[in-house]
Amino acid sequence: MLASFVALEDQRSREDVKRVGQTLEQTVTQIHEKSVDWSNWDDTYQFLKDKKSGYIQSNMMESSFIDLKMDMILFLDAPQNLYFGLAVPRLKDLPLLDPESVRQKLVHEGWLGKLAKDGPGKSGIVMFRNIPVAISLRPIRDTNVSKPSRGWIVFARYIDSGLLVDLRRLTHQEVDILNVSTPEAKKAIQSMQDRNVNLQALNADSLVGYSLVSDIKGKPAFMLRTTIPREVSKHGAAVVGAITLQLLYIGALFSIVIIFVIERFALSRLSQLTKQVGQIEDFTSGDRVALSGRDELSFLATMINLMLDKLDSGARKQRESEELLRIHNQKLEQMVSETTHQMFHDKLTGLPNRALFMDRVSLALEKAERTKAGTAALFVDLDNFKLVNDSLGHDIGDELLIAVAERFREAVRPGDTVARIGGDEFTVLLEDLDTVDGAIVVAQRMLKSLGRPIVVGNAEVFACASIGIAFTNTTGVCRRSLLKNADLAMYRAKESGKSTYVVYDETMHESVVDQLELETDLRNAMQNDQLHVHYQPLVHLSTSELFGCEVLARWLHPVRGQVCPTQFIPIAEETGLIMPIGYWVLEQACMQAKSWITKFEVPDFVMCVNLSGKQLQRDDVVERVKDILDRTGLPGSRLKLEITESVLMQDKDDVIAKLSRLKALGMRLALDDFGIGYSSLSTLQDYPIDTLKIDRSFINRLGEEDGAYAIVEAILGLARTMKMDTTGEGIETAFQEDTLRHLGCKKGQGYLYGKPVTAQEFERRFCKPNQSMTVDRPAA
Ligand code: C2E
Ligand code: MG
Ligand code: MG
Repeated sequence: MLASFVALEDQRSREDVKRVGQTLEQTVTQIHEKSVDWSNWDDTYQFLKDKKSGYIQSNMMESSFIDLKMDMILFLDAPQNLYFGLAVPRLKDLPLLDPESVRQKLVHEGWLGKLAKDGPGKSGIVMFRNIPVAISLRPIRDTNVSKPSRGWIVFARYIDSGLLVDLRRLTHQEVDILNVSTPEAKKAIQSMQDRNVNLQALNADSLVGYSLVSDIKGKPAFMLRTTIPREVSKHGAAVVGAITLQLLYIGALFSIVIIFVIERFALSRLSQLTKQVGQIEDFTSGDRVALSGRDELSFLATMINLMLDKLDSGARKQRESEELLRIHNQKLEQMVSETTHQMFHDKLTGLPNRALFMDRVSLALEKAERTKAGTAALFVDLDNFKLVNDSLGHDIGDELLIAVAERFREAVRPGDTVARIGGDEFTVLLEDLDTVDGAIVVAQRMLKSLGRPIVVGNAEVFACASIGIAFTNTTGVCRRSLLKNADLAMYRAKESGKSTYVVYDETMHESVVDQLELETDLRNAMQNDQLHVHYQPLVHLSTSELFGCEVLARWLHPVRGQVCPTQFIPIAEETGLIMPIGYWVLEQACMQAKSWITKFEVPDFVMCVNLSGKQLQRDDVVERVKDILDRTGLPGSRLKLEITESVLMQDKDDVIAKLSRLKALGMRLALDDFGIGYSSLSTLQDYPIDTLKIDRSFINRLGEEDGAYAIVEAILGLARTMKMDTTGEGIETAFQEDTLRHLGCKKGQGYLYGKPVTAQEFERRFCKPNQSMTVDRPAA
């Protein structure tokens, strides 16, 4: 805008400058028009003819020319000579014009030569002494312009300050004259393009315009300098400033209005919305935003509510899925922990199982490597547990195991581990022991814990166990060997009469090797006649009269010497060698009995033979026994078969059937080693058993333990009720004999009456021809 103002100013200023020039031209023209009154006038025409002084006196008055603002008037005759001239001293500071000089200049510059004598004349600028002078030149004619010209009239006027004042007045511009030879004028001329006009900015307030004025011949005469106030551009600047200011005002106002509108319709509502959103702490609470109106913000509020609803339902779904996940996890964890528990625990008793036990042994041994403390493993095997299981049923067996587990757990310290690693096999891990004595104490406590009867179902049973103890306080012991050693020791405990503990020592390892050797050797023992039999007397306790004997197998090993039946009978049972051995012993016994009956007067003589459970399991047992009786000729009534309680745990009907058939052959049946097993007393009467042989472990303890006495008493009471015969085993002392007799036991067997001896020896000691057999009792 400002540029357009400047352009406008430029254009107007140029026009002003031009107008100044034009006004000057008009002024010159006006002078020329004034001169016509003088040139075309009969008086002047006449004056040129007569040159009468009256014309001069009446017309050539200086005051008139001053009024006319003329500085000189010339009359030239036709040949252009000065006819009359008057210079008027009108301007004090300018030199008086000389008429002849002016005439010469005009003539010289050719003004007059080309001028028509009947034309309008000519006007223009002429420089005199560098001062511009306006000249009007006309041919002198009569008033009617009908006659030929008589000469020339010249009016001259200095372009003086007065003229400039007029010019200023007429143009309303600051005008002054500039000599063309000044540097300023020269510079202006150089940059003049537009019709001799040049415009330059003088300063912020003014422009200066130059217009070149030429003389009558077209040569530069002088310069008109016009100073033009820059009103337009200033005004323009003011306008632009004002507009800018207004625009600013409008802008500010508009902003205020906009802010107000935004505040009123947007920001306050937006902050209201923000506040509401901020107040919603939990999108599940159901709190929502509320914004009235129908604009974008209320739409936004609706969208926010929709979003909150979605978040809410999303959160609900997430909560549900998290809950599901949690439940699944819980189940999984439970399953894992149950599975882990199952993996490492015995289902029945809840005790650690073999895997966990072995793990704990490893850890204990590792720890012991560092602490140098002693560690013991106990291997516990219940004696004759299988009998309970088979006779009383698995449920009772399970109950018994649970009860035993509980008692074992109570018998150890809290940090010790009791595990069940097999059917009736338990293990115990004891840590931080000083010596093996600590383990022995625990083993004793465990055995003692079984001293009280265990109530299972309707029955009361006694459990007893054999415990092997392996102790180490040296480094580099592996868990397997520790447990194997405990196992070996346990077997040793079993061998040594059960219901006891044995501490492992190095020699036991050798015995295992022995065991294997024995097995091989036993296979050859029969063929090599290494087996033979001994007989041990059986007596009436009341009279000490011998009424029979028990045959006991003996093995004379070529290297080892005598091997106990407790050692080789189990091997024979395991390997099946018990069949040939058992029936060979039976045959030997039957032959011997037949021989003795024939030889001696022993009407009631009874030969007692041990019959292994393995033999009884076979279907041919009755046939084979009958066959031996037949072959030896021994009447069945002379034979008494001793079976162990384990037999009662086999298939009851089958056992009863077989035993009944055996009995049908006339023989009698005894239950050997009675009391240490788990015979269900209630079912005992279902079996066709004649005699209970009270186990020697009870007899042994008679006089030592009240419990033993009570048990023996109970057994004897039971036998009486069931009308069974009783035999006390392993009687070694008169006290034992007396006690048994006192308690009502009828028969006995034991070293007190005689150890098992060969047939010859037996015959020598006890048999007298035609005499009843008696035993020589050592003097009490
Ligand atoms: P058992 O049938 O109970 O035999 C009695 C055992 O007690 C015999 O041991 C006998 O020597 C021992 N004995 C008897 N009186 C006393 C005593 O006063 N004090 C001590 N300390 N011991 C006494 P043995 O001969 O070592 O036989 C052990 C077991 O081996 C037998 O126990 C029996 O179960 C089994 N056995 C022996 N021979 C045979 C056999 O031919 N067949 C079968 N199946 N088993 C046999
Ligand atoms: Mg026996
Ligand atoms: Mg016995």
